[in-house]
Amino acid sequence: MNRSKTVGEHQARKRFGQNFLVDNNIIEKIVSAIAPTPNQNLIEIGPGQGAITGPVLEKCPRLNVIELDRDLIPLLQKKFHQYPELHIHQGDALKTDFSQFYREGKPLRIIGNLPYNISTPLMFHLLSFSGQIRDMYFMLQKEVVTRLAAVPGDKNYGRLSIMVQYYCQVEPLFQVPPTAFRPAPKVESAIVRLLPYPEPPYPADDLQLLSRLVRACFQQRRKTMRNTLKHMLNAEQLEQLGIDLTRRPETLSVEDFVVLSNQIGALL
Ligand code: SAM
Repeated sequence: MNRSKTVGEHQARKRFGQNFLVDNNIIEKIVSAIAPTPNQNLIEIGPGQGAITGPVLEKCPRLNVIELDRDLIPLLQKKFHQYPELHIHQGDALKTDFSQFYREGKPLRIIGNLPYNISTPLMFHLLSFSGQIRDMYFMLQKEVVTRLAAVPGDKNYGRLSIMVQYYCQVEPLFQVPPTAFRPAPKVESAIVRLLPYPEPPYPADDLQLLSRLVRACFQQRRKTMRNTLKHMLNAEQLEQLGIDLTRRPETLSVEDFVVLSNQIGALL
């Protein structure tokens, strides 16, 4: 079955998560939130047919874009031929080494109306470069933005909230309805700003251990900390931890998780 829809001359491809922005008011709102200025180090993921690219180039003519769909490259080259400092990279943002774009004194500003099917792995990939990133502006499913910004006690608080908030301040900006896109997605969308901390405020001694701990805790979020942690530690070690073991994972802050993971690391 052909699930693609024609937009202009290009067939929107579902497997690339292609929902192109067509609402000029929304595009303007996104670009004014980003507030590009000349000579900044902007990188756009998934420029598509250039809905955001065009207005960004007007404010910052030096721009790198990464697009997976080979068919869109000639279209972008033609549309923006008057911008010699636009560098179009054909490739997969999930496999891109973003440190190649870093320039001394010019941390990365990463933007994108992201393909929703890869938005979570893509954010985790980008966070591995967080020390080189000034800010990120993403269009995501509204539900994902809610999870990113959730605080302890929220039903949406979980692994994504904790691991992203470990690195970044999360600021939901505004919602975008399905009618702003062609083809229209089935879900509501939202724009979020992520501001990486120069250094994580609560540094983990072992990031992999923190990640394992958080994953284990939210696999069964209704379990108490004792029931989750008994698979990692013996009874004696459990008693040495400084937390109330009757608590549920969803009540622990990012700082609590980091402190706990550092304590567990010291016991193992
Ligand atoms: N920025 C355009 C807009 O707002 O109209 C297009 C947004 S569309 C939701 C997502 C874009 O990301 C598509 O152009 C798609 O081809 C591209 N894309 C999908 N997977 C990608 C990947 N792994 N790396 C880079 N680009 C990707």
